[in-house]
Amino acid sequence: VTEGLSEIKVTEEALEKLPDTRTKVMLNLANPSAALRWWRLPVEGVGLARMEFVVNGAVRVHPMALAHLDRVTDPAAREEIEKLTAGYDSKPEYFVDKLSRGLSRIAAFCYPKPVIVRMSDFKTNEYADLLGGRDFEPKEENPMLGFRGASRYYSDNYRDGFALECQAIARLRNQMGFDNVVMMIPFCRTPEEADKVLAVMAEHGLKRGQDGLEVYVMCEIPANVIRAAEFAERFDGFSIGSNDLTQLTLGIDRDSDELAPLFREDDPAVLWMIETVIREAHKAGSKVGFCGQAPSNDPAYAKYLVEYGIDSISVTPDSFVQVLRNVETAESD
Ligand code: PEP
Ligand code: MG
Repeated sequence: VTEGLSEIKVTEEALEKLPDTRTKVMLNLANPSAALRWWRLPVEGVGLARMEFVVNGAVRVHPMALAHLDRVTDPAAREEIEKLTAGYDSKPEYFVDKLSRGLSRIAAFCYPKPVIVRMSDFKTNEYADLLGGRDFEPKEENPMLGFRGASRYYSDNYRDGFALECQAIARLRNQMGFDNVVMMIPFCRTPEEADKVLAVMAEHGLKRGQDGLEVYVMCEIPANVIRAAEFAERFDGFSIGSNDLTQLTLGIDRDSDELAPLFREDDPAVLWMIETVIREAHKAGSKVGFCGQAPSNDPAYAKYLVEYGIDSISVTPDSFVQVLRNVETAESD
């Protein structure tokens, strides 16, 4: 039970002296089987649970391949899918069961505090690597800027897969009792696209505001900042993803080694984006969190965020304690 604490070198005494801060500090969690290790940390919830990690670890099959096994052409993939799903009432039920159970471990660890589950945001090349995935994914030159995030959810090429993701969330919230689960939509390019996604979710019984369901949107595209007021009307809050926001503001592939020295989340242009979206969202009564890698790698980054009035910061477990202390210092300055 204390394994998590020793892994991040936090003693019991240090835990007792941790400050209370106005800015909530949350955790980015990925691995359901490791989630419970962090229960001693005084977290205000999970700011980012990336669904991709649970799908990769617990499910392994492309959801469209489960909805349409007849379209899977690779005999080895079909055979593997048959094996994995043996004993289930249906192929789709396998996906919904595995995903909802995996996410439930993350949802349980800090219940009733909020756990923001981000709907799947694989790139097409990554979806294609899931079992049976090749038959459902286009080949793209630039998957990072391609068929990802919100655009998939209402498209004929993924709608049935998104339906299974929604069913898993509905099961978690309504049947398993994890009403602390908040949904988050990644890579949402326009407010019109947001309307389409929210309509599909409502078809699956996930209507924003109903039974306390909150829905967030990632802020990771400059358009999310430029049209912040329109996004704010449609969602309960934003979560700033500085990895993509930096990439798209500076025009730098986040995976480029060559350009890594220029990839700066504290570049004035990126900080302007962050300050602006916080101001515009607050004007509209929307909350703003931050869930990119920046404050995990550079704890001093929390100071900028506190100055701009961020409501919450979500970081990886290893930097949690340091970020909490930095937030305290920034708040008292
Ligand atoms: C981000 O873009 O900052 C983010 C948190 O999402 P991901 O890293 O999964 O793209
Ligand atoms: Mg992102």
